[in-house]
Formats: sequence, structure tokens, C-alpha cells
Amino acid sequence: MEVEVRLNTNESPEPPPPELAVELASTASGLSLNRYPDRRAATLTAAVAAHHGVAPEQVFCANGSNEVLQCLLLAYGGAGRRALVFEPTYALHAHIARLTGTEVLAGARTAAFEVERAAAVELIAAAGPEVVLLCSPNNPTGNAESLDTIASIAAATDGLVVVDEAYAQFAPSSALELLAETPNLAVVRTFSKTWALAGLRLGYLLADPEVAAACAKVALPYHLDAFKQEAGVLALRHEAEMDARVRRLVEARHRLVEGLSRLRVDLWPSAANFVLFRPRHMRAAEVWGGLVERSVLVRDVSSFPGLEDCLRVTVGTAEENRRFLAALGEVLEDGPR
Ligand code: PMP
Repeated sequence: MEVEVRLNTNESPEPPPPELAVELASTASGLSLNRYPDRRAATLTAAVAAHHGVAPEQVFCANGSNEVLQCLLLAYGGAGRRALVFEPTYALHAHIARLTGTEVLAGARTAAFEVERAAAVELIAAAGPEVVLLCSPNNPTGNAESLDTIASIAAATDGLVVVDEAYAQFAPSSALELLAETPNLAVVRTFSKTWALAGLRLGYLLADPEVAAACAKVALPYHLDAFKQEAGVLALRHEAEMDARVRRLVEARHRLVEGLSRLRVDLWPSAANFVLFRPRHMRAAEVWGGLVERSVLVRDVSSFPGLEDCLRVTVGTAEENRRFLAALGEVLEDGPR
């Protein structure tokens, strides 16, 4: 869909730093594309490991975090196995699980969209899933899970606990703090959001060496192309710019939330680069359509369990956020009272 303000897929509104673009261009021209890439992506894997202060054996890189999730579910899910998700959450978790033949069990969340520790532990004891999928901060609700909850869930299961941290750098804490003492924990990260590199398709796993090795076994040979391997290494050298970008986006999120709170919508606190909101007196589809007419695209998440009439807006540039708020104000004024 052609729109001027695209706030529907939680990408960074800013491009990566210009110096990185120059470095990428010169890297591209120096590649031996007649040769297969390094099958183990050793340099990239070592760079990711150094970035997080873990051993290279604890890292598995793939084409976006979606491919990491697919590998985890190919390795730990499959026919006769079950994955537990807590709805509403990132829809691809259940989708990829089903694609790998894994049965999906759905637990509920509290009114604040948190996973309730006691209920989760009980559900795990009763159902015994091989994989538990958490998402923190959770897409599309925006809340982060407490480390206590994650640790309790990991202690309650013999299965693998996957924490999808696509939005981690926006959040106050990370499950990585639990990694050393939790061998059944798998943390999934991406370059698509805070690193402003969604087009590159690069994500990775941080876990026990056994889990990383299991993923490597189910990935296709040479799945990571030569350019991506070099690009990931170069991107990691621009951490300071990434941190500054995250600070700008968090600041912009505060202003966006302020603006939204002046309109007739209910909204939920966010620890990510998007905000979930519900118009008080109009249907989500009507509001979504009204925004599109004003060339603003947000995500209609009203079909997610428990999110009736909810919409999700990505934090954009100051100008994009201003246009979104102005358009939403108009739509809500125009709509039925
Ligand atoms: N996990 C979550 C929670 C996401 O929101 C997204 C992107 N929408 C992904 C994973 C997939 O990201 P990637 O581009 O790394 O495949």
C-alpha cells in the first residue's frame, strides 16, 4: 500500500548511520561471490559473541529472528511436541510452530498483558510443553516481562524457554542476565529494529552451546550469505549510534504517548518502539481506514485474541508522529460519537 507515513511494522524510522552505508558499499565490491560463504559464519558469530560477552559456541546467526525461531522450532518442536504461547503475542510464534508440525497451546495474560507467573507454572506442570515461547517486550502489547517470571517459568519446565527480545534495547532489562544460570533459556535478538537494518535480514540466538548447535543442525547449508556476514560485523561497530537512536526513539515514544493520551483512546504503557491503543467510541477498522485516507498506515491488531478494536502504532520520526496524531485526531473527531 502506498502511504506517506508508514507506522505499521515497527522498523526504525531512521536509516543506519551514513558511515555504515559507505562501509557496506566497499565491502560489497570486495566479496568473492563466485565462492560459497563461510558455512559457520565464524567471524560474524564471534563478533556477536564479543558484543554480548558470551562464548561463540553460544551464538547462532540466521536470516532474521524469524529464521532463528524457525530453527528452534524445527529442533525442539515438530510432530508430537507442543509449544506454549501466551496470547495475545507475536503471531509468528504460533504460525512458525504450526509450520514445523508443532502443536500450539495458548495460555492467557493478565489485563495488563503480563504472563502471570503462578498460572504459567501451573499450565506448564499440567501440559508439559517441549517449548515455551515468551516475547519481551511483547509485540503487540508493548509490556516487558519481569526476570522473576522468566526465571520461574524456566525453572518449572524441562523444555526450552525461548524469549524473543526483538525490542530488547528499548526495555529496562533483558533475559540475558539469566543466561549463565539457565541452560534451558534461549534468547532471540534481531538487527531489524534498534539496529535499523530490517532490510538486511539478520538475527541471532544466544543460548547454551547445545541449543546453538541444535539450531545449526537444522539450518540449510550456507543460509547466511557472504554480504550479510560482513555487514553484521560492520553494523556492530556502530553501537554508539544505535544507543543514541534508541534514546531518541524512547523520547519520541514519550511524546507520542502524551499526544495519544489527549485523544479519545485507551492506551497501554510501552517498553518498545510501538504503542497499543483502542479508540473509545469507534471500531478499529474504521479508524484504520480513516488513517489510510490520510496516508498514515498503522497495524490493525483487532483480530488478536483479547485485542478487540485495538491498533498498534510504531514510533516514527517527529514529523511522522505529528502527522499520525493530527490524522488520528481528525478521524476520531469525524467518527461516530
Ligand atoms: N519477533 C518479534 C517480536 C517481532 O516483532 C519481529 C518483527 N516484527 C520479529 C521477531 C521478526 O524480526 P526479524 O526481522 O528479525 O525476522
